[in-house]
Amino acid sequence: MRGDVVELAKLLINEDTTAPPGNEKKCARVLRDYFQDLHLDDCTVQLDEFAPGRANLLVKVGPGRPGLVLSGHIDVVPAGDLTKWATGPFDAHVRRGKLYGRGAVDMKGAVAAMACAVGSAKGSKLKRRLVFAATAGEEVDTVGLESLLNQKKLTREDAMYCVIGEPSELKPVRGHRGGPSLMVKFAGRSAHASKPELGANAVEMCARFMMEVESWEKKLGRQRDKDLGVTILTNTVVRGGTKSNVIPDSCELEIDCRTIMRHDRAYILDGLQKITERVTDHQKEIKVSIESNVDCPPFLTPRGHPLVRLCEEVSGNESTIAGYGTEAPWYVAAGIPTVVLGPGSVFMAHKPDEYIEVRDAGRASSVYSELIRRVCS
Ligand SMILES: [Zn+2]
Repeated sequence: MRGDVVELAKLLINEDTTAPPGNEKKCARVLRDYFQDLHLDDCTVQLDEFAPGRANLLVKVGPGRPGLVLSGHIDVVPAGDLTKWATGPFDAHVRRGKLYGRGAVDMKGAVAAMACAVGSAKGSKLKRRLVFAATAGEEVDTVGLESLLNQKKLTREDAMYCVIGEPSELKPVRGHRGGPSLMVKFAGRSAHASKPELGANAVEMCARFMMEVESWEKKLGRQRDKDLGVTILTNTVVRGGTKSNVIPDSCELEIDCRTIMRHDRAYILDGLQKITERVTDHQKEIKVSIESNVDCPPFLTPRGHPLVRLCEEVSGNESTIAGYGTEAPWYVAAGIPTVVLGPGSVFMAHKPDEYIEVRDAGRASSVYSELIRRVCS
């Protein structure tokens, strides 16, 4: 069983599914072949190609009553500077009990552990439906899962609970903050820097805007959510200016945004609009526009919810709140209560020499098997 998890995880890691562009169909095929070879009873395996080269893999086992969906993404973040890797990021290998490669912990190790747990249900009589969903594009815009849910290929008729295997050291995560993507653009007018009054300085306007964001964040921090904590807004990227003797006519600002329930996208955009009005009050020539293309809402499954309690019992760990985002809000919006529960630490993710402890992946697979038994059998 443990060997299976590692072998399958290796096959998945060896397929480069860096997003963008994704190419997740390569991993979806590996998983399709795995499930087709298993010949599970009463099982449908669907390779859901929603765009050229991009696919989810959806497996449904057992009768019609809603059961459990085990879910994980099959895209990975870019490998980055290859000289920082001891060996190739897409050349999976085990060394001293650790499986190395891009996606080992985030989250092809967990996907393999889930697939093997579904496989180990072979022969057992399921009273509720068991679903396995491997999704594409999570690291960019959740396009794969959105496609599955919007097209009703996966609904609450399939599953009453969802468990996502993002790395959580096998502690059940019952909530995390959300937040829209935020890009602010400042358009001014250039001039020779010896005559600054002839221009409209977009970089200085951006600086004023950033100070306002900082003090607004402090105010937002007074509204603490008892589970999710406080909203965090951080000025993280600034691009502006061309040359030291030119008044800059453009500047771009990215703000990292991690919000609690009450500070939804509309609330945040409204606040930034007010800041815009304040900072441009005496310099109307500079135009400020705010773009927000992606929105990951926060999610929270109550501490006493049966799924949270079940995951606590089976993992032996108390539930917690995570600092990172996952696909959980989309499942919750589709009416499927969700908990995140996966092997390994998120601090190993998105780094060179990413790894997962083989022992942890095996243990996760046993936990998923037990969840299947409790929910579906
Ligand atoms: Zn992930």
